[in-house]
Amino acid sequence: MKEATRYVEEFMSSLIARNPGEKEFHQAVHEVAESLAPCILENPQLRKMRVLERIAEPERVVIFRVPWLNDRGEVEINRGYRIQMNSAIGPYKGGIRFHSSVNLSILKFLAFEQTFKNSLTTLPMGGAKGGSDFNPKNRSDEEVMRFCQSFMTELARHIGADTDVPAGDIGVGGREIGFLYGQYKRLRNEFTGTFTGKGLEWGGSPLRPEATGYGTCYFAQVMLATRGESFEGKTVVISGSGNVAQYAVQKTLQLGGKPVTLSDSNGYIHDPDGIDEQKLQYVFELKNIFRGRIREYVERYPKASYFEGQRPWGVKCDIALPCATQNELDGSDAQALIKNGCICIAEGANMPSTPEAIALFQRHKLLYAPGKAANAGGVATSGLEMSQNSMRIRWTPEEVDQRLHTIMGDIHAACVKYGTEPDGYINYVKGANIAGFLKVAKAMLAQGVV
Ligand code: NAP
Repeated sequence: MKEATRYVEEFMSSLIARNPGEKEFHQAVHEVAESLAPCILENPQLRKMRVLERIAEPERVVIFRVPWLNDRGEVEINRGYRIQMNSAIGPYKGGIRFHSSVNLSILKFLAFEQTFKNSLTTLPMGGAKGGSDFNPKNRSDEEVMRFCQSFMTELARHIGADTDVPAGDIGVGGREIGFLYGQYKRLRNEFTGTFTGKGLEWGGSPLRPEATGYGTCYFAQVMLATRGESFEGKTVVISGSGNVAQYAVQKTLQLGGKPVTLSDSNGYIHDPDGIDEQKLQYVFELKNIFRGRIREYVERYPKASYFEGQRPWGVKCDIALPCATQNELDGSDAQALIKNGCICIAEGANMPSTPEAIALFQRHKLLYAPGKAANAGGVATSGLEMSQNSMRIRWTPEEVDQRLHTIMGDIHAACVKYGTEPDGYINYVKGANIAGFLKVAKAMLAQGVV
């Protein structure tokens, strides 16, 4: 055990020296290195070929200027990024994030996690992530379009259906994907599946918008079943109010649970009567059409309350689904969830729980699944969109849902295989990291030092 600790310390000190100041990237790599150390120490070939060191070094990073004109005719300048992390098992694949907080560290952590997540889906996809510090909030549709066109004018050189296939993420939904794909098609003069999350009329897959939120619930459903539990009658606390959160609410309802919260970066709403399908339709409209704030929910439904500047984790619940952003659930939030009797946490967002929160969940033997396993349904369905585009066919929503179900079940089985502790507790972090790693590592060993 001591050897493993020393290995992780040495590995991390070298990684931190090579990537100074990138704290989210360090956090994501540290978690993986801790899970993998015993497995790497047992396998001298992995160590000699420096597989983990290579996985933690992006194959390529592109950083570019994105100049564009706002509605007042003024020049604005943002920074664009694409991190092409790993292509050992397939073309680079990962979302695009537009948010003012975007920087190299955040995108490298996301691209690193994506490599393992994509491997877990069982589909042939490498890992990538991209984005910009552009904030689409309070921008007109025309401004968003001009920004997307400028962003894509550079990005188009680096992507392609067999090279790198981006998708949406925070701040990049149907509207942005339309503008980005339109410009890509115009520049390249080709209609290929170089983007996923496309509209149904132009190459998109049924169920792609729903897939991340639905998949997270499917994963939680299988976790709960390991303890003879289900969503039926359970109170569910959900953070965020964007794509993932909205469909997590919908699937929770379909599975018989009662979702009671939603949030955004300003605060959260608590609806003790539950957010039912009709209220959810209002949220779809509020967020996706009017691009409003979640506090407006209480104007429409006055029995609900709004808590400015707070997060929802203090609300009593059985199941928690963090679906907003990284590090949104810390040690004290975890303590509140545990104290209130929460039994299951499945991450719809990427790295929403801090290391302190994860340690608490695991110490208390809660069902806890990290994003790279629980939210992999989104990219898995993107993989299904790529397949449909290549074959020039379209599956029915039922067919896609069936495949999504199977994939989430398979990811769960991989976590059980590699993460079950001697006392029977399923350590989903360890299971997901080892299962995701082994496939990529095998491919990298076969392909030589590249
Ligand atoms: P989205 O539609 O843009 O929604 C993001 C939500 O999170 C919004 O409610 C947003 O509130 C909130 N949020 C963003 N930054 C925040 C912050 N710093 N503090 C508190 N709340 C914050 O994005 P999304 O696609 O749902 O993505 C949510 C999470 O799921 C991300 O971690 C993403 O990486 C992950 N994920 C997404 C997919 C996918 O298919 N979309 C797949 C896998 C994982 P504001 O409006 O106030 O910003």
